[in-house]
Amino acid sequence: MRLKFRTTSLSEGLAWLLDSFRMSALFSGQLKSGASKLGLSLDSRQLEQFQTYYRELISWNQRMNLTRITEYEEVQIKHFLDSLTVTLALKQPTGGNSLRLIDVGTGAGIPGLPLKILLPDIRLVLLDATAKKATFLYHIRDRLGLEDVEVVVGRAEEVAHQTEYRERFDVVLSRGVAPLATLVELTLPFCTIGGSFIAQKKGEIEPELSQATKAISILGGNLREVKKIELEEFTDERYLVIIDKITVTPEKYPRRPGIPAKRPLA
Ligand code: SAH
Repeated sequence: MRLKFRTTSLSEGLAWLLDSFRMSALFSGQLKSGASKLGLSLDSRQLEQFQTYYRELISWNQRMNLTRITEYEEVQIKHFLDSLTVTLALKQPTGGNSLRLIDVGTGAGIPGLPLKILLPDIRLVLLDATAKKATFLYHIRDRLGLEDVEVVVGRAEEVAHQTEYRERFDVVLSRGVAPLATLVELTLPFCTIGGSFIAQKKGEIEPELSQATKAISILGGNLREVKKIELEEFTDERYLVIIDKITVTPEKYPRRPGIPAKRPLA
């Protein structure tokens, strides 16, 4: 099913609007029922926020490159529901009082923003290296009326050395940014001792894990669990790699921008 987003006349515009309302009614059910399989319930305000997020994402995506996934039902599952699976790894799945989270390489806000919609009490930092994407993040944050969401533009390699962000987060999240051996250098420095890093991964996980073993230990982490996501909504293999932060990350990490990717710790 395809939606048309470029409209040339008023009647086409109205037809599009009707179409999108029909689609929303039809498919918000898919997100809702997927979420309930995770033990999560979404109320009408939250479902409305997801609808707004979808519409803004698609509209902005015509002007800047935010996502390759644009079809309605695909976004509901592959972006929104996929983000919510992170709750399977949270020690306090309901968010707790003021759990501090950072989403490293958030892009258009995935997985951070869907989690914030689900758990309004969390304190969230969305970090991305691209200033252009941040303009969307500021917009959507305000459009959704979300509080306690800070947008930071910068490279993780640099931001992780700033005192206000270093070892300050209970939970660090990341999806689609780098192979694990590189990724842990960009993420574990943000994590407080006792907190954890949750990486969302797809496909063959074993080689990636074994390549990251040394890096995880150097950076103060300890692999707790690799959790397979068992939801029929996903046709591919998806995992949460959960790494607990058990000791302080040595001051010299992360190394300079680009080095963690060029020379992963091994
Ligand atoms: N997490 C989103 C976006 C993935 S694309 C999703 O799953 O849809 C990867 C994003 O990471 C890009 O927006 C890119 O700008 C950002 N990124 C890559 N390396 C980074 C770094 N070192 N520091 C901060 N952001 C980074």
